[in-house]
Amino acid sequence: MLVDSHGHVSTKRFDGDRDEVLARARAAGLVAMLDVGCDLPSSRASLALAERDPLVWATVGVHPHEAKEVPADFLEQLRALAAHPRVVAIGEMGLDFYYDHSPRDEQRRVFRAQLELARELDLPAVLHVRDAYGEAAEIVDEVPGVRGVSHCFTGTAAEAELYWRRGFGVSFTGVVTFKSAEQVREAAKGVPPELLLVETDCPFMAPVPLRGKRCEPAHVVHTARMLAEVRGEDPDVLMRRTAENALRIFGISLPA
Ligand SMILES: [Zn+2]
Ligand SMILES: [Zn+2]
Repeated sequence: MLVDSHGHVSTKRFDGDRDEVLARARAAGLVAMLDVGCDLPSSRASLALAERDPLVWATVGVHPHEAKEVPADFLEQLRALAAHPRVVAIGEMGLDFYYDHSPRDEQRRVFRAQLELARELDLPAVLHVRDAYGEAAEIVDEVPGVRGVSHCFTGTAAEAELYWRRGFGVSFTGVVTFKSAEQVREAAKGVPPELLLVETDCPFMAPVPLRGKRCEPAHVVHTARMLAEVRGEDPDVLMRRTAENALRIFGISLPA
């Protein structure tokens, strides 16, 4: 039993074989995957896929890369989309000071507004943070009561603690399998079992031994195995527990 807590199967990279990709995910033991929106059109595409395939659940949000391009009424549009029962979170949202594709003040404004929306709707927030873990945690503190996950975690153990201490889930991609990612493996060791999640962030971040290829949800098994090895846990137990964590945090009930 596995859940891919973050991917982008509704994007163009899967136009040629989306149904086969989702069939392989089911065959690999996935019981759910979250298809994550990065702007308004991709949020609509995530929701459309979630309406069409019961394995898929949607999130709606604006990525920090896209913060500079949001329309004035983006929050109203997100709120309307989030009313759909297959939307389980707001995001991805956050700060990306590595790429700085949007001016930092725009990133902060769009991030804070979405955190407030997540709290208002009582939905978890999916955080995308790069080179800004400290500042993003401070902005989270400005919105008391908001909850969620820090996705594609690539920081240090101390930076991971900023999030799990606040009750946020910490989610790891295939990066944790990369030879150079010793720091990320250290961070993964310290996350409390009930707050650990796994994801692909597909089509990006394919884990070893598939590094460089197009990633897909079924590949999350390699990331889960690496996390189990690093933490000295049984892989089947870790897969089940990370799946249960994702289902609990995102409020997903599977059909009996
Ligand atoms: Zn991201
Ligand atoms: Zn993503």
